[in-house]
Amino acid sequence: MPSSFRFDPNASPVASTDRAERMIDPGFGRVFTDHMAVIRFSDADGWHDPHVTARAPLQIDPASSVLHYAQEIFEGLKAYRLEDGGTALFRPDANARRFQDSARRLAMPELPENLFIESIERLVDADRDWIPGGEGALYLRPFMFASEVFLGVKPAAEYLYMVIASSVGAYWKGGMRPITVWVSREHTRAAAGGTGAAKCGGNYAASLIAQKAAIAEGCDQVVFLDAIDRRWVEELGGMNLFFVLDDGTLVTPPLTGTILPGITRDSLITLARADGLTVREEPYAIDQWRADAQSGRLVEAFACGTAAVVTPVGNVKDAEGDFAIGGGGTGQITQRLHQALNAIQRGTAPDPHNWLHRLG
Ligand SMILES: *Cc1c(COP(=O)(O)O)cnc(C)c1O
Repeated sequence: MPSSFRFDPNASPVASTDRAERMIDPGFGRVFTDHMAVIRFSDADGWHDPHVTARAPLQIDPASSVLHYAQEIFEGLKAYRLEDGGTALFRPDANARRFQDSARRLAMPELPENLFIESIERLVDADRDWIPGGEGALYLRPFMFASEVFLGVKPAAEYLYMVIASSVGAYWKGGMRPITVWVSREHTRAAAGGTGAAKCGGNYAASLIAQKAAIAEGCDQVVFLDAIDRRWVEELGGMNLFFVLDDGTLVTPPLTGTILPGITRDSLITLARADGLTVREEPYAIDQWRADAQSGRLVEAFACGTAAVVTPVGNVKDAEGDFAIGGGGTGQITQRLHQALNAIQRGTAPDPHNWLHRLG
């Protein structure tokens, strides 16, 4: 499809004083911009009607397939204000490809990479005043769902792809705070052949009961183990995990289909290797994690993802024995990798891997 995005500007955008007020302390995912991007798909017409329009509630038929069978996928990425005054997206091409991979797994149509990127460029262009400066960013949420009105179980014949944007504040206001994680022995997140590597809402729906248990245990996040041996550490509900050994080696679980291939994970592996560190993508058992933390062989652990970038893990709570990591604080390699990635994202360090996608 040739690109021909229509732009219907919001006739009553949020007043600038009101916008400034909402952006003082926006938190995460609560403050939304004036516009949204939309592209429709139907088996008959393919991708069509790309436009940016006023953000507004949707009217959907109660028999829309997504409401019954959860055929839905999403992405998450950020637009940053750079130190030189420009703006940039971080690796949107990687999000575009992952969105296609997720679509394929959910039997949905694959949005061409150029349309994915252009939809985001057009939305950010319409809402550039909503990109916070300083440590904030504009969080972009592309998503797609089955909009066909039909209760039969089959891949839908109609879909709606959209992008919404949310001004977000500094995640680590006042410095990083190590989290405490709860190991779920009862529930798993994904099994071989399932949807663990797809970014679909259904994975999150299935993880919430374990997240709720983690909160009830006084923890911040849940750690999922593999579904077969209930032994191999996979990831958190929405973040990938890294382990740092005392010889400076990093270990992270391999992408075998049950783990979401994080773009932050991939970026950190690249940065760590460029920094001379060894990174091994290999299975790591929960018992090994505990033994290594207790013996001192494991000195740091951290989670990573677009929202927080890097989150130190200070304590692990588990029915088979709690343990602390490196005294429960934030480790040096965790800190260093976070700073290195953050500096590239905000344009305060060179971008040797061409990860920044500058916006006009
Ligand atoms: C999105 C996501 C991540 C992190 O991916 P990033 O591309 O780094 O943001 C990790 N795990 C799950 C389950 C996710 O949905």
